Parts: sequence; C-alpha cells; structure tokens
Amino acid sequence: MSASPLLAGRSLCAGYGDFQALFSIDFEIQTGEVVALIGANGAGKSTLLKTFVGLVPIRDGSMTFCGTNVSKTPAHALVSRGLAMVPEGRRLFRGMSVEDNLKVAADHAGDPAAGSSPWTLERLYDLFPILAERRAQPVENLSGGQQQMVAIGRALMTQPKLLLCDEISLGLAPKVIAEIYEMLPVIRRSGTAILLVEQDVALASRSSDRVYCMLEGRITLTGKSSEVTREEITQAYFGVKHEVG
Ligand code: ATP
Repeated sequence: MSASPLLAGRSLCAGYGDFQALFSIDFEIQTGEVVALIGANGAGKSTLLKTFVGLVPIRDGSMTFCGTNVSKTPAHALVSRGLAMVPEGRRLFRGMSVEDNLKVAADHAGDPAAGSSPWTLERLYDLFPILAERRAQPVENLSGGQQQMVAIGRALMTQPKLLLCDEISLGLAPKVIAEIYEMLPVIRRSGTAILLVEQDVALASRSSDRVYCMLEGRITLTGKSSEVTREEITQAYFGVKHEVG
C-alpha cells in the first residue's frame, strides 16, 4: 500500500457498552479506489463504517483521513472534511421533497476532491434523470430505488472525497440494483473513492478494486478483487474450510 492512503484505520477497536464489535482493524483505502467490505450479518461492517464517519467512537487504535489524525473528530466535522455515508435504510428526510433533501446536504459541504468539479443539483440530475422528473415530490412518494438515488445524491452534495455505501442494494429489484451500480464508476471518475458494504459477494467483487472480508469483528481477508478466490472468500466469510467437489 502507498504511504499516504486517503483513509486508514490502524488497530481500530470499537463497541457498544460492554460489547466489543471491532477488534484491531487495519484498513486502508486509496484516493480513487473502490473497495468492497463483505461479511455475514453481524460481522461488524456497519459498525466499521459508523466508526469511520464518527458515529461510533474509537476505543483504541487510530484513524487518519487525508493524512490527518481524525480519531477524535466529531461526525459533522468529518462530513465537511469529505467523508460521507449513505446509511443502511437511507434515512431520508420524510415530508421533504427530493430537491430539498439534496439541498439540505449542501449546507454541510466541504471542498470537492482535488481537481474535481463540485457536485451540483444539475450534475446529480444528469446522473439520475428520474430525480429531475420527481424533484418536487415528497421522498416517501418515490420507489425504493429512487429513494436510494436520493440518498446517494444527498451524500454527493457534501462533496465527498470518500463515499461510504452501506448495503445500497438491500431490498431492491435486480434491474434497479444494476442501474444504481452502473453509476458508481461515474462517481469514481469524478474523483470520489467508494467503500461499499454489499451482501452480494459476486456484485461486490466485480464492482471493486479490492475487497475486505470481516468475521466476528475482525478482518479475515483482504486482496485484489480480481485475485481472491471463491474458496478464500468462503473461508474468510464463514471461518471454515470450504470443501470443493
Ligand atoms: P448486518 O449485515 O446485519 O448489518 P454488520 O456486519 O453490519 O451486519 P453490525 O451491524 O456492525 O454488523 O453489528 C456488529 C455487532 O454489533 C452485532 O453483534 C450487532 O448485534 C452489534 N450491534 C450493532 N449495533 C449495535 C448497537 N447499537 N448496540 C449494541 N450492539 C450493536
């Protein structure tokens, strides 16, 4: 790995009350990279994302973003530094229109990634044309896939250098998932690195440069998505040797 990753977690530990959810996590993502994080239910993937965005405090270890130690930086300050999350379940502002959901995020925006132009409503509507058509609708009138587009758009309006996506395919039809995943390379080309938590291992692998697998709060595998084998993933995912044949 290069000497100055965009985001790096070193020996990160975190938890809830007496429960330790993350054990000495080492994690890196480079500028412009797409990294997938996979693992079974309860492995700690969401907790790791929440730790990265300051929603779960780091108990031990450290985290840097753009070369600065941000281990104790509050969530709102991390957003304006360029860390944005599309949370599981989307968490849109109900009762507000599509456009107002997008505009609200702009109030928390930082500077765009070096050399990139800022995300604007116009650019988002180019990315997701259906949102332009539905811009005045309350978000609860939209389909699940359209709501997910709003959630991604809202995160992009904060001008992230790193976009963390927590199970953006959850509950969506395959065609809609494909539409949303097709947009990820466009987002990446705009200079934004992406960290994807994804239950569909095949989709995660083909959409990413590198993959991390978690099991019971620990990283059990990391490697290039094109190089890790199915057997390695199965073992890292379930913690058991997979008998082939
Ligand atoms: P899923 O795919 O089900 O979202 P995950 O890999 O994202 O799973 P986490 O949601 O990070 O896993 O959960 C990791 C562990 O932390 C689980 O044992 C879970 O029960 C526990 N946990 C998560 N959130 C809390 C919380 N707010 N309070 C207490 N324990 C929690």
